[in-house]
Amino acid sequence: MRKKNLLILGAGLSGLSAAYFLKREKVRAKIFEKEARPGGLCRSIRKQGFIFDFSGHLLHFRGKDTLSLAGKILKGSLIRHKRDSYVYTFNKFIPYPFQSNFNYLPKGIAQQCLSGLIEARAQNCLKSDNFLQWIHNKFGKGIADLFMIPYNIKLWKTPLDRLEYRWAKRFIITPTARQIKGSFKEKRDKPLGYNSFFWYPEKGGIEELIKGFSENVNKIYLNNHAVEIDLSGKRVIFKDGRREKFDKLISTIPLPELGKIITPLPDDIRLSFKRLKWISIYNVNLGVKTEIHPSRHWVYFAQKNIPFFRVGFFHNLSSCLAPSGQGALYVDTSYSKDKPIDTRAIGARIRRHLKTTGIIRSEDEICCEHVNDIKYGYPVYDKDYAPARKKILNFLSENDITSCGRYGGWRYLSMEDVILEAEKIVRGMPWKNYL
Ligand SMILES: Cc1cc2nc3c(=O)[nH]c(=O)nc-3n(C[C@H](O)[C@H](O)[C@H](O)COP(=O)(O)OP(=O)(O)OC[C@H]3O[C@@H](n4cnc5c(N)ncnc54)[C@H](O)[C@@H]3O)c2cc1C
Repeated sequence: MRKKNLLILGAGLSGLSAAYFLKREKVRAKIFEKEARPGGLCRSIRKQGFIFDFSGHLLHFRGKDTLSLAGKILKGSLIRHKRDSYVYTFNKFIPYPFQSNFNYLPKGIAQQCLSGLIEARAQNCLKSDNFLQWIHNKFGKGIADLFMIPYNIKLWKTPLDRLEYRWAKRFIITPTARQIKGSFKEKRDKPLGYNSFFWYPEKGGIEELIKGFSENVNKIYLNNHAVEIDLSGKRVIFKDGRREKFDKLISTIPLPELGKIITPLPDDIRLSFKRLKWISIYNVNLGVKTEIHPSRHWVYFAQKNIPFFRVGFFHNLSSCLAPSGQGALYVDTSYSKDKPIDTRAIGARIRRHLKTTGIIRSEDEICCEHVNDIKYGYPVYDKDYAPARKKILNFLSENDITSCGRYGGWRYLSMEDVILEAEKIVRGMPWKNYL
């Protein structure tokens, strides 16, 4: 019997973990990656003694199995951190999350947040139709107006009443009334939420995870840019003319890019691809030649006049990320097709606001810069999202293409999520007769 061909497109964490689990099943997949190095968003850049990731890439583990797999892949070299994060508001840094630490705000304002919250919780039977309503229903007017609404408009670049809300339950902490009242009495930041603890490689940046996976998969074909997927001939055509036949294709390349290279593509599917929306992240990584903020992990900014929504501190994830006595920051600004940023002016604005907010003492402290312009940052969960995604994935599946990963599956997935998803996909398929 003819042996079947399995191809994987993209050697980011998703493609690599799929290949890893396939190898365990003794299935050989050829992995094709357009870049010269595997890793996608989980690569790390070395520059002037600093190691920069593509913004912060912190490992959150919900399952013990993924923690132990990452430990194995990283040969035990993992640091566990207790979150030390803040929100910049009223010209100061209060502990994150805002919704359980507003007691750090001036008394009248804190009172306004508390009474809004109590009122909202008293009506907890209210149904939410969209993200804006969900915010009001969960947090009340004070917290909504002071933080939740401005922060999320700034991040998503989309009116919040056009967004779905179900995703938020996992990512936005909704403390109980008891936890909030407790914080008023004790003035203590008890870690809440999915990110209260996290892990990070001891050495080398997040790319160490990729190196570990790469050592445990079959050959990765680098510099192989897929430019056409011919559905009738069941083959992938690469930029240099190479052609590869497939019986099954696992694609992890971003869905909007996949839509551009599939032929033939029916009109209704093309329309569904067009309906997908996303925000991009302009990630500026900076080296700072003096010691700054020795314990903080990251800070959120909701202010409209400040360009970035988040600043993180690489040097507090692992001491290897900055030379001794120096600091390293990741500074993230979001933009979209409709709300672009001026890339010529943004650098100067960022530096100015890092100083005015007290993140750095002087702009002269900055000694190194590396920018990652991340086109596909976060899929936008608007009202078109679910039907468009479903239609596309069904069509692909009918054509023996499993599209997965954060951008291939078009979901707000963490690194742990993409590993778990890859394992599930591999477990769920009959691999008999594959090479
Ligand atoms: C700003 C930001 C911060 C994040 N922070 C965290 C965090 O703290 N913790 C966490 O768990 N997760 C975080 N994530 C999510 C994490 O990055 C993803 O879950 C994970 O990297 C997704 O891996 P992937 O393989 O699905 O996608 P990708 O990393 O995008 O990999 C896709 C691969 O496909 C390749 N490719 C694309 N087109 C082609 C083509 N035509 N031919 C061949 N190859 C192609 C690409 O070069 C790439 O290598 C963050 C994401 C962003 C954007």
